[in-house]
Amino acid sequence: MHILVLNVGSSSLKAAIIDPLNGQRMISLTAERLLDDPVAEFSDGSQVELKRTGHENALKSCLLALKDKLGDTEISGVGHRVVHGGEAFDRPVLLTDKVAMLIGEQSRLAPLHNPVNLRGIEIARELFPDHNHYAVFDTAFHQSMPRRAKTYALPKELMDKYGIRRYGFHGMSHQYVSRKAAEYLKDDLRNLRVISCHLGNGCSVAAIEFGRSVETSMGMTPLEGLVMGTRSGDLDPGIPTYLHDQAGLSLEEIDHLLNRQSGLAGLSGVGNDLRTILEAASNGNADCQLAVQVFTHRLRKYIGAYAAIMGGVDAIVFTGGIGENSKVIRHRAAQRLNFLGAIINEDANSILQLSEDQPVAEFSMRHSRVRLLAVKTDEQLAIARDCSKMIAKADEVNQLPQIPVAISARHIHLTRETLDTLYGEGHELKVRKWLSQPGQFAAEETVTVVGPRNQIERVRILGPLRSKDQVEISRTDEFFLGIDAPVRESGKVENTPGCKLIGPAGSVDIEDGVICAWRHIHMTPEDALRFGVQDRDVVEVSVGGAERSLTFGNVLIRVSEKYALEMHIDTDEGNAAEIQPGDTGVLMNTGSTGHLVKRKLSVVR
Ligand code: ADP
Repeated sequence: MHILVLNVGSSSLKAAIIDPLNGQRMISLTAERLLDDPVAEFSDGSQVELKRTGHENALKSCLLALKDKLGDTEISGVGHRVVHGGEAFDRPVLLTDKVAMLIGEQSRLAPLHNPVNLRGIEIARELFPDHNHYAVFDTAFHQSMPRRAKTYALPKELMDKYGIRRYGFHGMSHQYVSRKAAEYLKDDLRNLRVISCHLGNGCSVAAIEFGRSVETSMGMTPLEGLVMGTRSGDLDPGIPTYLHDQAGLSLEEIDHLLNRQSGLAGLSGVGNDLRTILEAASNGNADCQLAVQVFTHRLRKYIGAYAAIMGGVDAIVFTGGIGENSKVIRHRAAQRLNFLGAIINEDANSILQLSEDQPVAEFSMRHSRVRLLAVKTDEQLAIARDCSKMIAKADEVNQLPQIPVAISARHIHLTRETLDTLYGEGHELKVRKWLSQPGQFAAEETVTVVGPRNQIERVRILGPLRSKDQVEISRTDEFFLGIDAPVRESGKVENTPGCKLIGPAGSVDIEDGVICAWRHIHMTPEDALRFGVQDRDVVEVSVGGAERSLTFGNVLIRVSEKYALEMHIDTDEGNAAEIQPGDTGVLMNTGSTGHLVKRKLSVVR
């Protein structure tokens, strides 16, 4: 299979014909300076004849030349990189007229990128009318960020009206390198907390917790966050007003300043190429020395912050032109992280050389708990793979069974030891009601859960006893109790807050174990096979039929021989969706994006 991947920028075009299985390029094309002095060269060294007749013509000539190069090779689809998917897209999609229109509508959020992406799409659709085209978004991977990470502290109505929130970018790269890292570590990405540092001309960091992006440094636009080639990154929001007042700069000039004249280029005074800056810095240029220090100081600040957000980190990944190639930046970013459990191997770092044959290399010490990795990113291959997955999914027929939906009220699981303290030595739980999951029961016994703010009485104990205490509460309970409980799958209680429990015979302060249960679907391995999902995949649920539907993202799949097919949501979610006893769901096929199998599960009455 071959996919044509296109990345149309405001003054450049990057294209490649890729085999999504092995990443091999049949041919690739790089065209630059399309606006004024266009040059375009294929990977085989041949050039495209381009006249100085503007962006559109240059694009058309390049794509026609590419079509020529194809000869008899069949392509299975065309994948387009689109910078901003806004609220509308959380996954790659088949390009239809409606999708093209929606991409156009996101232009207000990315005026420099989306209109040219769209123009590229239109020209390519004219030149390759018989093929399916797909759009893959830089922002989609970060749609999984929790609201607290997505939200700016601005008036709510204003943000709703203008779509102001944090979206994040470089999603294809962060997703690709975190998967590569997991492969290298021979672990499942769903067990890992990864901090991924994409350091190219644009730079961003992402916190990827158990496979999902939970934070990233770029925001509504790619200007927020790290110091970049020509972008300032984070800034006191008072500075633009100050510049306007004091330096008399217009809004347009400030925008240009922050996007094009700042970052490494602004600080160093010798341009945005880090190689030049490092060279000058070692020859004593003080501005370049400071540029390198500000760049890595900011990066370290984010690494520390993201470790705090995830309650720890298992791997830190460096990628992009700088992350893959600069041992100096990797050294400056990763030294003195021993307190986090990351111990750099300086020798390994300094000889590290990535290549096609060695796309991942490690530079942490053997005894380092956190693994430090450099990974070669490949956004074009990530796009090609997303397209091939959509092509494969298109043929699937949907004949899937319905899934009962149940509301899970607040409850608690206890260890033998805690039960002994709360109810007396050797106390046996009495079964009040057997639950749908085989062997599980609601006990007669209840406990009082005490938080810093309030307490909740009569919280039901579920049996049988477990090896860890776990208190599962809803978001509303969380605020009532005054506890900041993370959304977790059952059993994952590391780095969660604790609380006080009171029973008739005594009380216990548990150190951790309070969670908001991650909405989930229990199923047997046979069910999983039928649904085409695996344990700990994440799916999507839309509830309430056609006219008033509510979509639940991030529904976790749990597979075990012991389970009966059932979806569990908490009381808040059940109320929001007006779920009634006996409601059921059905799984519908949509485009899948790797192990985050995003499918739609619509709940029908
Ligand atoms: P883009 O974001 O445009 O794809 P790249 O990922 O290619 O950019 O990264 C470009 C950056 O990588 C430039 O700042 C360049 O100086 C830097 N870079 C490339 N090779 C090296 C190297 N050997 N040492 C230091 N920096 C490097």
